[in-house]
Amino acid sequence: MVNWVKARTEAEIVDVIRAHPTVKLVGSDSCGTWRRPVNASVVLGIESCGVIEHDVEDQVVVVSAGATIAEVQQALRKRGQCIPLGPNVPDALDRLDDWRGSVAGQLSLNLPHSLQAECGSWRDWVLGLTIVRPDGTVCKCGSKAVKSVAGYDVAKLFIGARGTLGVISQVILRTFPIRGLPQPDFNLGSGLWSHAGRIQRTLSTDFEAARIAYGDHLIAFNSKGSTLYISCDVTDQSFRYPGDWQLGWGLGEANLSIEDPTVKRLMERTKTIMDPSRKLNPGEFE
Ligand SMILES: Cc1cc2nc3c(=O)[nH]c(=O)nc-3n(C[C@H](O)[C@H](O)[C@H](O)COP(=O)(O)OP(=O)(O)OC[C@H]3O[C@@H](n4cnc5c(N)ncnc54)[C@H](O)[C@@H]3O)c2cc1C
Repeated sequence: MVNWVKARTEAEIVDVIRAHPTVKLVGSDSCGTWRRPVNASVVLGIESCGVIEHDVEDQVVVVSAGATIAEVQQALRKRGQCIPLGPNVPDALDRLDDWRGSVAGQLSLNLPHSLQAECGSWRDWVLGLTIVRPDGTVCKCGSKAVKSVAGYDVAKLFIGARGTLGVISQVILRTFPIRGLPQPDFNLGSGLWSHAGRIQRTLSTDFEAARIAYGDHLIAFNSKGSTLYISCDVTDQSFRYPGDWQLGWGLGEANLSIEDPTVKRLMERTKTIMDPSRKLNPGEFE
């Protein structure tokens, strides 16, 4: 039986990662059952301390890494602001308020969303991070300043890194005024939503070919996010594209698997520099 522990402070995180040879990181663990399993000696989650500081004038918020998206959006809404994270499936349009995924989990996966073209994504919103490195060093990168010119922006490496580089404990984010947010961009295809089988994201250059190739199997698409919602058999791998990823019931470990050799190589190199002992999320992308 693997131990599950919750940590609240950086000191508690340091204690856990120093005490274990391998550590699996989770936020709300909402993808625990639909992703490649990570085997480690302990599972570490960051307890939510919610919103720590919100500067309404400067449009900056400091949140605990374990805070849920719903928690953050509800707190920001009281001051007319939000993180402009659009739904990533058409039928989630009315459910944005129950997103129980954590801020750290979301930015570590960096999935496409339906306001991305207009409002950017985690790479644009994250201004700074507090991180506990695998050797137990606590680091702060970035700051509350929207324009920061101090050296290499290490925080950006953590976006999409799937918990392989360090434990995120706090996140500084840009906020946006709710007034004037655009509408999510979803177009309906000819398939039926109840038959949804697979969500596939392609490179923008492959998107048009994929859209045509799926024909009647296409339920919906988000062209700005190059994302397709498809009703075909999930195990049918006829239309794969370089750099795409897919997600679906029945795909098991293939969900979100990284196929692009360039991306894999980059992740591998960063891992070797930041976590040479391969302590965090071992096997996440190999
Ligand atoms: C099509 C689609 C629809 C979705 N719809 C919804 C929805 O309606 N509601 C909803 O809540 N979610 C939804 N999700 C899921 C959501 O996008 C994310 O999967 C989820 O929010 C991630 O958050 P989590 O806290 O559960 O992350 P986890 O599953 O716990 O972790 C995700 C990754 O982040 C890493 N990680 C977690 N915490 C840390 C940390 N502190 N430091 C470093 N790395 C860390 C983990 O190791 C893992 O690799 C949907 C996803 C997709 C693709």
